[in-house]
Amino acid sequence: MILLSHIPFQLSGFEIQRVMGDENTLIITAAAQGSVATCPSCGQNSQRVHSYYIRKPYDLAISGQSVQLNLRVRRFRCQNQDCARQTFAERLPEVVAASAQRTVRLTELLSIFAVALNAQTASRLLARLAMEASGDTLLRLVKRTLLPPVTAPKAGRRR
Ligand SMILES: [Zn+2]
Repeated sequence: MILLSHIPFQLSGFEIQRVMGDENTLIITAAAQGSVATCPSCGQNSQRVHSYYIRKPYDLAISGQSVQLNLRVRRFRCQNQDCARQTFAERLPEVVAASAQRTVRLTELLSIFAVALNAQTASRLLARLAMEASGDTLLRLVKRTLLPPVTAPKAGRRR
C-alpha cells in the first residue's frame, strides 16, 4: 500500500482524510462535514451525534483504478421529546443513497452505459474501465432509469 496525499478528488459534504491504494484499487477515506442533520420523522434539526459508522460504496474509477470509499458517517440523536424516533442516520442524497453499494455519480455513469448499450456489452466495457457491474445490475439500472414506464404507442394498422 502506498499513501497518496494530493490527488484532486471532490466529494460534496465530505473532507478527504486519506487515500490508500495498490495497483488495482484506491481506498479513499472521508468524513462527513455538516454539523446538523434533519430527523426524517419529525423534521427537527439535531446537532447531537449519537455514533459513527462506516459505509463503503464504490465510486468513479480514477486513472484505471477502481475506487472504494470509506465514508465515516454519523447517526444523530433526535432531540425532539415528542418524536418517536430516538436516533437517525444522516442522509447523503448527493453522494450515496441509503443502503446503496455505489455512489450516486457512479450509478449515473453506469446507467448511461447501460441505456446506450446492451447490458452485457456495457458490463464488459465498464470492467475495462475499472467499474465493474454485472449485466443483471445494469439491467436493473436501465429499468429504473426508464421509469415511469412509457406506454407503447399503439401500432398503426398496416396493409
Ligand atoms: Zn425526530
